[in-house]
Amino acid sequence: WDDTASKVWMDGEFVDWKDATIHSLSHVVHYGTSVFEGIRAYSNENGTAVFRLKEHVRRLFDSAKIYKIPIPYTEEEIAEAIKETVRVNDLKSCYIRPIVFRGYGELGVNPLNCPVNVVIAAWDWGSYLGEEGMANGVDIGVSSWRKPAPDTFPAMAKCGANYMNSQLAKIEAIEHGYDEAIMLDYTGYVSEGSGENIFLVEDGVLHTPSLGSSNLRGITRDSIIKVAGDLGYEVIEETISRERLYLADEVFFTGTAAEVTPIRTIDGKTIGIGKRGPIAEKIQSTFFEIVEAKIEDKYGWLDYI
Ligand code: PMP
Repeated sequence: WDDTASKVWMDGEFVDWKDATIHSLSHVVHYGTSVFEGIRAYSNENGTAVFRLKEHVRRLFDSAKIYKIPIPYTEEEIAEAIKETVRVNDLKSCYIRPIVFRGYGELGVNPLNCPVNVVIAAWDWGSYLGEEGMANGVDIGVSSWRKPAPDTFPAMAKCGANYMNSQLAKIEAIEHGYDEAIMLDYTGYVSEGSGENIFLVEDGVLHTPSLGSSNLRGITRDSIIKVAGDLGYEVIEETISRERLYLADEVFFTGTAAEVTPIRTIDGKTIGIGKRGPIAEKIQSTFFEIVEAKIEDKYGWLDYI
C-alpha cells in the first residue's frame, strides 16, 4: 500500500495524502476537539462491503451532538463519502477513519466559534493485535489507570480526547510487556480495553460489562451479542468484577480494529486453556464468515461500495 498515491476526502473534496494537513493552531490540536469513527470494509466474492456503515455514521453524529459539533453534511452524504473514499483509492479490505474536528479559529477553550472540518481517510490495515494474537490469544494487563466517571467524559462519545486516557493505559501495558490493557471503571468494575470491548465465557455463558461501565457502545460488541445469541449462547450484560477475568474459561476482545481477539493471559495468569478457546473460535469464525460472505448476511450488515 502506497500512501503517496492515496486520496483523502477533506471537506467535500479529494486531496492528495500529503496535502491532507491542518494548521497547528487548530482548536483540535490544543484541546482534542474531535469526534471520529473506525470502520472496516471487507472484500469478498460479491465485492467490497463496509461493515455496519449506517451504525458507524449514526454514532459519529451522536458523538458530535454530545459535543455540539454541527456536521455540515447529512448522514447519507457522509456514508456516501466514506464509500467513495474506498472506491477512489481502489481499496479492498481496509480500515476507514472519518474524523470531525474544530479547526482554525479562536484559540480559547470555547469551541463554538471555530469552523467544523470533516476528513475521511482509508488504508490497508491488518489485524490490530497481530495475526498470531488472533489465533493464539494476546497477553493483557489490568491498568492502574481507570476510565473516567460518567459525569466527567461521556463514554458514548467517541471523541479524540478520550484516547488520552486510553493512551495512559496502553503505554503502561506496553511497558509491562503486555499487548493491550484492560481498564476498570471509576467504581472498580471491568470496563473495556484501550480500544476494544471485552467478553468473558463462564460455563458456556457469555458475559460483557453493561453499557454504563464507562465503556464505548461498541458496534462489534453489538454484532457479537447478536451472533452469539443466534449460535445459541446466552449473553448477559452486567457488572463484572476484576477477579472474574482471571477465573473465566475464555476472555476475548471485540472491536472494529481488533475484530474478535482472544486473550490468553491477564496479569500473567493463564486464562482457561491458555489459548483461543472453543467459543471464541466459533464466534470469531462466524464473524469472518459473515464479512467474507461465506454465510448469509441476514442482519444486513454489509454495505457494498
Ligand atoms: N471501546 C473503545 C474505547 C474503542 O475505541 C473501540 C473502538 N471503536 C471499541 C470499544 C469497540 O467499538 P467498535 O466495535 O464500535 O469498533
